Amino acid sequence: MKPFAYVRATSLREAADAYAAHPGSRYLGGGTNLVDLMKLGVETPTALIDISRLPLGEITELPDGGLRVGAMVRGTDLAADPRVRTRYPLLSQALLAGASGQLRNVATTGGNLLQRTRCAYFQDLSKPCNKREPGSGCGAREGIHRDHAVLGHSEHCIATQPSDMAVALAALDAEVELYGGPDTTRTVAAGEFHRLPGDRPEQDTVIRPGEIITGVVLPPAAPGAVSLYRKARERASYAFALASVAAVLDLDDGRVRRIALAFGGLAHRPWRATTAEARLTGAEPHPDTVRAAVDAELARAEPLRDNAYKVPLARNLACDAVAALAGTHPGSPATP
Ligand SMILES: Cc1cc2nc3c(=O)[nH]c(=O)nc-3n(C[C@H](O)[C@H](O)[C@H](O)COP(=O)(O)OP(=O)(O)OC[C@H]3O[C@@H](n4cnc5c(N)ncnc54)[C@H](O)[C@@H]3O)c2cc1C
Ligand code: SF4
Repeated sequence: MKPFAYVRATSLREAADAYAAHPGSRYLGGGTNLVDLMKLGVETPTALIDISRLPLGEITELPDGGLRVGAMVRGTDLAADPRVRTRYPLLSQALLAGASGQLRNVATTGGNLLQRTRCAYFQDLSKPCNKREPGSGCGAREGIHRDHAVLGHSEHCIATQPSDMAVALAALDAEVELYGGPDTTRTVAAGEFHRLPGDRPEQDTVIRPGEIITGVVLPPAAPGAVSLYRKARERASYAFALASVAAVLDLDDGRVRRIALAFGGLAHRPWRATTAEARLTGAEPHPDTVRAAVDAELARAEPLRDNAYKVPLARNLACDAVAALAGTHPGSPATP
């Protein structure tokens, strides 16, 4: 075990200062991903800066009808919040579709967004991995890549983004709040927070060194809009998405006023299906129309040797989700 320092921060300022004082340190949320990676030797921080006791554990109403979720809100509490269940059911469903009850009791909203890929080569120090060790190669490209990306990958990395919650937040047009110091705060659209790998796969997101996620802002839900999250996985619980879809549908007199579709398990970031959304806006959500729009989106897919199955899987999930939402509209939020 490589020795590391432990610092318990009592304020954001103190946390940022501790990060600056310990080059190579990491913030500690629930630790459910970071500590696992430390045990594997993938993460070797010089210091753990514990931010879990910062006062960021509240879900608060915003004047415009949205919600602000503090970065330390645990997955269990976020999924169970009555306001989230009522106004943003897809977010609650995405959280409950991930990990296990025990993990969700500990995992934080900030840490969930920054969890690392589950690519087995990334977690195995004996294998090449450009994400873990830039320039060492990508073991998965010609190796075992059944779970890997079909959209937006690069010759340098074909990993997928693992968070279910991030996919729901992308579909909801949520925003991620970041603190870089007393005079450096900013927000980033959740759909832009994760990045495609390009030639810098070691960088999962647009977060800058030392920045702390302080919260996530959910915009007000449109009255009458319905939403759901669907996830396909190897077993019924405790498994990451092979493919998933987060969908929000708002119909006006039988036509799509607004639709948001985001895929998980297909790319290095939640994949917002903007081509499908544009085709469906203003149209009647007839199954043939939806299928054609989703196919147009997935025409961009570049499957690898062993993961072409993800394209029809994602298409079927999306078509099924939209059909379920269209069938239940208007009225109460759809059930998965
Ligand atoms: C067996 C197992 C199954 C799982 N299945 C799923 C699944 O199906 N779906 C799913 O979505 N997830 C799944 N997970 C992952 C789980 O959701 C994550 O481990 C968890 O959300 C991470 O949150 P945490 O607070 O524990 O993060 P930590 O482990 O504390 O931190 C993760 C990363 O985020 C950084 N960090 C934490 N908080 C902040 C902050 N506020 N600001 C800046 N940096 C921060 C840390 O430095 C670290 O790099 C699974 C995990 C396990 C172990
Ligand atoms: S897919 Fe990405 S994370 Fe996996 S081995 Fe290749 S470079 Fe590493």
